[in-house]
Amino acid sequence: MLYGAVQGVGFRPFVYRLATELKLTGWVLNSAQGVFIEVEGAKEQLEEFLRRLERDKPPRAFLQSLEASWLDPVGYPAFEIRHSEESGQKTAFILPDIATCPECLREIFDPTDRRYRYPFTNCTHCGPRFSIIEALPYDRPNTTMKKFPMCSDCQAEYQDPTHRRFHAQPNACPTCGPHLELWDSKGNVLAQHDNALRQTAEAIRTGQIVAVKGLGGFHLICDARNDDAVQELRRRKHREEKPFALLYPSLELVRAHCEVSALEERLLTSPEAPIVLLRRRKSVQIASSVAPHNPYLGIMLPYTPLHHLLMKELGFPVVATSGNLSDEPICTDEHEALERLNKIADLFLVHNRPIARHVDDSIVRIVGGRELVMRRARGFAPLPIRIKTEDSQSKTVLAVGAHLKNTIALAVGSNVFLSQHIGDLETAEAFGAFQRVIQDFERLYDAQPSVIAHDLHPDYLSTQYAQGRKPRTVGVQHHYAHVLACMAENELDSSVLGVSWDGTGYGLDGTIWGGEFLRATRESFTRVAHLRTFRLPGGERAIQEPRRSALGVLYELFGDALTDECADLAPIQSFSQNELKLLLAMLQKNLNSPVTSSAGRLFDAVASLVGLRQIGRFEGQAAMELEFALGSIETDETYEFDLLQELLDWEAMLRSLIGDVRAGVAVGKIAAKFHNTLVEMIVAVARRVGEERVVLTGGCFQNKYLTERAIARLREAGFRVYWHQRVPPNDGGIALGQIVKALIFRPSSGG
Ligand code: ZN
Ligand code: ZN
Ligand code: FE
Repeated sequence: MLYGAVQGVGFRPFVYRLATELKLTGWVLNSAQGVFIEVEGAKEQLEEFLRRLERDKPPRAFLQSLEASWLDPVGYPAFEIRHSEESGQKTAFILPDIATCPECLREIFDPTDRRYRYPFTNCTHCGPRFSIIEALPYDRPNTTMKKFPMCSDCQAEYQDPTHRRFHAQPNACPTCGPHLELWDSKGNVLAQHDNALRQTAEAIRTGQIVAVKGLGGFHLICDARNDDAVQELRRRKHREEKPFALLYPSLELVRAHCEVSALEERLLTSPEAPIVLLRRRKSVQIASSVAPHNPYLGIMLPYTPLHHLLMKELGFPVVATSGNLSDEPICTDEHEALERLNKIADLFLVHNRPIARHVDDSIVRIVGGRELVMRRARGFAPLPIRIKTEDSQSKTVLAVGAHLKNTIALAVGSNVFLSQHIGDLETAEAFGAFQRVIQDFERLYDAQPSVIAHDLHPDYLSTQYAQGRKPRTVGVQHHYAHVLACMAENELDSSVLGVSWDGTGYGLDGTIWGGEFLRATRESFTRVAHLRTFRLPGGERAIQEPRRSALGVLYELFGDALTDECADLAPIQSFSQNELKLLLAMLQKNLNSPVTSSAGRLFDAVASLVGLRQIGRFEGQAAMELEFALGSIETDETYEFDLLQELLDWEAMLRSLIGDVRAGVAVGKIAAKFHNTLVEMIVAVARRVGEERVVLTGGCFQNKYLTERAIARLREAGFRVYWHQRVPPNDGGIALGQIVKALIFRPSSGG
């Protein structure tokens, strides 16, 4: 299915001709919420269809945004143009921000054009939308462009139905529109207009860190080749090792530095222009501190005229990371930036077009031959996810998500508006942003929720927020919400086996779940299997210290004998005598040592046991490094494991794995055998449960190797496999799952 907004005429007949030429069946439909296309056929033809839709579309038609997802075939006999759906509120449709179109790009580099080097150039085909809208309907007075009255030239374009800028709400030019200023850290103006841009480029060239006000917030930018600058940025931002995103001047340079497939190229240059995770080539001239111990680089191309102009000036890649301190929300206002980013940035490149709401860069990775959105924000939000509903036409539901990588969602009728990425609700700033986004969505869509869905974890700020509000609340189990989210975006409504693997989620029994197999429908679920549990000495701290997970696992296997039997192992050696004594006492007395079935923590334990990482610098690092350790190893070898009733026991696996470690088997080989074993565990449970449809969800399925091998092996075994596409497999997708549960929630039937 394709989903997007198309402007211009002759689009549906074009789609019809293209589909029939490629022998695809299905339909195209114009509705108030955009254009929907469903096409069915061979995968190659479908991919060709996607490519040619963009390439060969009628000259006056423009795909402002496009979301594609792969669904089960329905068996359409032919291709047809369906009658327009008149239902649905027109006002409910807000477009995401759209990357600069080729025509605008040509203008800003044309010395004879009146918009030559103008950083706020846009048209109906491109430019800011979600980040400038203050209210609906989408008209200039309802955007942050209201303070810029159009000059007569711009006004003429705006009123000319044959012009590309006809009703382009953010239309502007150097005469009438916003302009740039370069400020020092006290807010003194150092330069204006094009001089501000040129001086910014000079500052970056000489190793300085500049806060740049972009589309949905500030970036912190520095020369990605300059290790001193990058390390300084890490130090000032309190960000030790988490990879930085990069902004490249051109696709050619991206190709020179990374392997880029046709699909990845399409993503990089798409209207969404997300950060794409690309495998880096050897000996790339990028500072090693950009993405330490990481074979991937997160790369995007310029997506506003400002970024195009700056990158043209520079000609080399820059770090472009969110303008914030550690995990706080991205900064959007220049005066706020002066305060919050004062100790981080040397200079501030700002402009006077206000940002209505924060929108981070989206992150996408290719998994299983198609895109997997890992962070859904710019370019995607707030396009709705359509879900099948029966009696919910008038029901408005709010879902507040989980705790990490928070997003919220608002369901109005069958449209679910999933918010842009908000972040980890760890700081007062993040919690403030969370509340602002909720208010913002309720106001934009003029919707007052009658039900609020939340996670079951009593300590999550999101849970407490939900319970503090008036409407009826419904708690949704974390891993079930993951499964429902994946079912919703794949439009599944029959029963499935949900493989829901992540780091942490509050279980029905009050323990920490995370290695779950749920037989699920949209109404309910049963936990049909789970990974064997172990204890986490010191609780939450284990998230930062993989060696604590390892200790918990070893204690489960060896008990008190571990001090003798495991003394040679990396995690044990990494603790001081006192630490070890203390943690063992916790385990022995069962103090502050919560029980978990988490797959994520099992990854941590193994990363620690093989000596990869004892202490993590950011969430999920150890598991990522275990995936990276695979390198290009190809092996089908596995370890033994046991499946006893509902219990998936990893004891045999870990005993052999420890044997491999002692025998000096290469870390990559051990990592591969571990991944392969997890996949065989999934297949074994799937065989036992016998559901035809298997859904892979939860943060662990950001792991490309695990996901792709699970898909392949499950298919070989005759199952139909579903995973995420447009909605993150991590906790960024939880709100969508909560919505699904709340929509069918009836007060009389209880939670
Ligand atoms: Zn344009
Ligand atoms: Zn103008
Ligand atoms: Fe989760």
